[in-house]
This record gives sequence, C-alpha cells and structure tokens, in this order.
Amino acid sequence: MSYIDWYDNHALKHKKIIDKLTAKNFTKEQIIEYFEYEKMVENEKEFCPLYEKNEKCHDTVYLNCYFCACPHFRFKDEGVEKVGEKTKYSFCSIDSKNGGEGVYGDAIHQDCSKCLVPHTKKYVTKSFDPSWRDAMRSCVVDGDLAT
Ligand code: SF4
Repeated sequence: MSYIDWYDNHALKHKKIIDKLTAKNFTKEQIIEYFEYEKMVENEKEFCPLYEKNEKCHDTVYLNCYFCACPHFRFKDEGVEKVGEKTKYSFCSIDSKNGGEGVYGDAIHQDCSKCLVPHTKKYVTKSFDPSWRDAMRSCVVDGDLAT
C-alpha cells in the first residue's frame, strides 16, 4: 500500500470515530482518553491490525493511538530526494533522537519504531485537532525538497 493510500484510508477511519464521539458530546479530554490503546482494542477493533493480536506498535505502558501516524512524519510516494543511488521516501521533520532510517534495497524510509513522541498524553493534548487530516496536513510532502 502506498503512503497516500494508507493516509487517506486512515483519515476516514479516524473521522468516523470522531464523528461518533462528537455526536455523543465527548469533550476533548474524553476523546483523548478514548484513543488510549486499551480502550481502542476493546471498542475499535478495525482501527489497527495489531489490536486483534493484542500487540502494540511500541513497547510502552501508556500508548495513545490518536496520532497514528505522527504529525512530524513526512512522506512522498514518488520519493522525497535521492541519496546517492537510493531514494528517500519519508523522514522525520524534527529529526527526533529516537527516530531512525530503514534501508530496504534502494529505498529509505523513516523508522519510528523506537520513538514515542506522538503517543504520550501530553503530546496528544497539546497537538489535539478534532480533524486528523488537518493535524496531519504537513505530512504530505509537496514539491522536490521537503520542508
Ligand atoms: S521519529 Fe518520532 S517524531 Fe519523528 S516522525 Fe517518527 S514518531 Fe514522529
């Protein structure tokens, strides 16, 4: 699946949940709590393929799924830039110290597996936007050079 296909599909799933919670008059705080891993596993089994296996994407006690993916993630399916003979397709806009790069043949992709930045309650509260698509609008890299 391309990045943009995942992004569009996930935006729809996220919106469906937000619309449901908004119709029930959930507050911002209640929405954030609803997106905690344990509650999502119980209530939103379709949201993430890891839920049915009771697995987490990160080895951490507190995991909030509101920002899956991360607002700092940048991608372009056609490639962000050339790195020697390889093509970089994604990167971290804040160069998080716990982020990394995965090299797969000629492709370089951002590796967020060790980074918890978007999954803490503090971060979700600070960066909260009821529209996931709006919160993530900078993730799609436009043009040749990422900004
Ligand atoms: S490395 Fe961390 S901050 Fe950077 S895009 Fe990945 S999850 Fe977000």
